Amino acid sequence: TLSDRLTSVLNNLRGKGRLSDADIDATAREIRVALLEADVALPVVRTFIAKVKERAKGAEVSQALNPAQQVVKIVNEELVAILGGETRRLNLAKNPPSVIMLAGLQGAGKTTLAGKLAKWLRGQGHTPMLVACDLQRPNAVTQLQVVGERAGVPVFAPEPGNGVGDPVDVARRGIEEAKRAQHDIVLVDTAGRLGVDEEMMRQAIDIRAAVQPDEVLFVVDAMIGQDAVNTATAFRDGVGFTGVVLTKLDGDARGGAALSVREVTGQPILFASNGEKLEDFDVFHPDRMASRILGMGDMLTLIEQAEQAFDAEQAEAAAMKMGSGQLTLEDFLEQMLTLRKMGPIANLLGMLPGAGQMKDQLANLDEKHLDRVQAIIRGMTPAEREDPKIINASRRLRIANGSGVRVSDVNDLVNRFFEARKMMSQMAGRFGLPGARGPKG
Ligand code: GDP
Ligand code: MG
Repeated sequence: TLSDRLTSVLNNLRGKGRLSDADIDATAREIRVALLEADVALPVVRTFIAKVKERAKGAEVSQALNPAQQVVKIVNEELVAILGGETRRLNLAKNPPSVIMLAGLQGAGKTTLAGKLAKWLRGQGHTPMLVACDLQRPNAVTQLQVVGERAGVPVFAPEPGNGVGDPVDVARRGIEEAKRAQHDIVLVDTAGRLGVDEEMMRQAIDIRAAVQPDEVLFVVDAMIGQDAVNTATAFRDGVGFTGVVLTKLDGDARGGAALSVREVTGQPILFASNGEKLEDFDVFHPDRMASRILGMGDMLTLIEQAEQAFDAEQAEAAAMKMGSGQLTLEDFLEQMLTLRKMGPIANLLGMLPGAGQMKDQLANLDEKHLDRVQAIIRGMTPAEREDPKIINASRRLRIANGSGVRVSDVNDLVNRFFEARKMMSQMAGRFGLPGARGPKG
């Protein structure tokens, strides 16, 4: 499967040092083959590979991750991006009832979806109604009625015994009934064929024209593989649609269809169906689908953990330095710039008990001041930054001239630095931070 292929490809990268161009190219070739084998459409594969390659080549070598993890992270991020990033919500009409029409091949899961959506919408406080416009198969209306009963919503259907009705007429009358009975959402179930054919598409187009839906959802079986592209293209060019619903994700679908449909039609995937029961339904989560396509949930978790551990290490190292009184001016500048980025959090910090003095310091963190601090510190030699005690009068004059400030500014900064170092040391002792030497610092 795609997942297996990718796993083995990316496993090969593990343990190597730096990621070279050759590494990236070889990996890209393998991923390309794997995606094609998983029924992802060729143009989609091309776009995807190009993006991944570009990003892998331009990426800074991460300190937290090894090259293999880095590539996996990029592949995953690009997959999420193609699958749609954030999930889009249903478009509802300003003046109810909103009309949602379901279209797709026979057996895709439209009628089942009608029940699922109805139940889900009810749970959100809506009052949906179903309209049975599949008059093609004898039991299609009954099936929708059963589903409606389970979901606890009414079903509008043609009266039995009148022969085969006109689906367009039923759709129109259904909307009228919804208005009369004040349902705020109407779900229109339609007929499908095993393959795309003109009559079926004509009917869908006529229903769409008659009911002017706010959404046309293209319902597609995730198991149909390569055919997903052709079917989606036919529906896009025929009745047209505004969103996609993937069904049968409880099967062993490899996810290639999701990627193709999304990229080829440009329409977002809104929902995912994953079982026969009405509850087996959720809004579509691009991140979960990406992780399913990659089949590397464990590795993605590892990556997250590695990054978090790295951040924690950095923070601890900084705290250690602060607490041990070994803070240099370089660290000082870095801390100030970090605080500057934190903004409101810096204010919060100032409210901590025992951080009263720090509050005053934080209040002085205006931009111009920080720029000056930065200029002064940059005007120092590495030795001076490392050990500010050596900054005597002549050095202060040189630094002031070099960075375009007054000697008193340099004095201020150096004095404040020593104060801050003492204070941090004391605070570290009080809060029991690592590296602390107790209240005396
Ligand atoms: P329609 O022809 O598009 O209306 O499709 P149906 O709603 O009648 O579904 C066709 C078959 O697929 C039925 O047996 C459903 O129970 C089944 N089905 C629908 N959605 C799912 C799903 O998400 N998972 C599974 N396993 N079966 C589903
Ligand atoms: Mg049906």
